[in-house]
Amino acid sequence: PTTVERIAAGEVVERPASVVKELVENSIDADASRIRVVAEEGGTEYIRIVDDGIGMSQTDVEAAVEKHTTSKISDIEDLETGLATLGFRGEALAAIGEVSRLTIRTKPRGGSRGTELHLEGGTVESVEPAGCPEGTAVEINDLFYNVPARRKYLSAESTEFSHINDVATGYALANPDVAVALEHNDRETFATTGQDDLEATTLAVYGREVAEAMLPIPDDAVPDGPLNDLHGIISHPETTRSSPDYLRTYVNGRFVSAKTVRDAVVDAYDKQLGPGRYPFAVLYCELSGAEIDVNVHPRKREIRFAEEQAVRGQVEQAIQAALLDHGL
Ligand code: ADP
Ligand code: MG
Repeated sequence: PTTVERIAAGEVVERPASVVKELVENSIDADASRIRVVAEEGGTEYIRIVDDGIGMSQTDVEAAVEKHTTSKISDIEDLETGLATLGFRGEALAAIGEVSRLTIRTKPRGGSRGTELHLEGGTVESVEPAGCPEGTAVEINDLFYNVPARRKYLSAESTEFSHINDVATGYALANPDVAVALEHNDRETFATTGQDDLEATTLAVYGREVAEAMLPIPDDAVPDGPLNDLHGIISHPETTRSSPDYLRTYVNGRFVSAKTVRDAVVDAYDKQLGPGRYPFAVLYCELSGAEIDVNVHPRKREIRFAEEQAVRGQVEQAIQAALLDHGL
């Protein structure tokens, strides 16, 4: 790849956690019911994502590592009407491949032939038949080996791993029906059951102490407005934190960062319990696609709403109602 291409790749791939994000999204898009994330040394040496999704044929996988190839958009209208899948730009695999040594082993569901493809700095080195289970395994070795400036700016192993953990727990909570497991330096960090149970998933991800202190948001807590539904769990005031970092927001199933929602929750706690107490929360918001502006920046998780103030008011009222409902 040229320098320009490597810089472009660096936009998508900032750090090991961005690799994990893209690959986990691909696994979810591929209808996986199990996803295992394995990292070594904060992901800087090694990352592997294994799924039991639909897999790829040899032709599919050869196309998948090309730039701007995606199987997820057939019509430009899809872009306007809202997308069911998480990825649609067809750039992630190619970009990751350009700045690492990448191996994909994959077999289509119900297919008889598996394929192993190896990329080195974006160049296809080999494509061979391989015996492998249905689904896809993507392995990344030596991330940024050919972009020394990027490699140099990676943080300490523990920091890089905490970003990976953040991404993995984020997708695990967004998809309680998918069994997500994370392993770092040969130790399993967490593993969810995939049984579509938010409380069990919270327990697996955050541990017993937090899980037991979570309060569900009652069904009828959201007043009318652009937000059609808000459900999830919030923490009991005794388990509040000193920063709002433990607030996770999902909008239409996407793990996002939404300042509007965060501010509304913080305000509700503030009014109800006094300042400086930030909740642990996992919130699932549903709105019509027209109410969301997801394209603030394609790589950022931050999203905005068409009617920011209305959404903010709805969230705040729902959280206050939930706290009141639990006698707080
Ligand atoms: P995008 O997700 O935007 O389509 P990517 O570069 O992430 O672009 O992936 C390119 C294509 O490779 C996808 O459209 C999909 O067809 C295929 N693909 C990637 N990962 C997987 C996977 N885990 N299982 C099945 N197909 C995959
Ligand atoms: Mg993708």
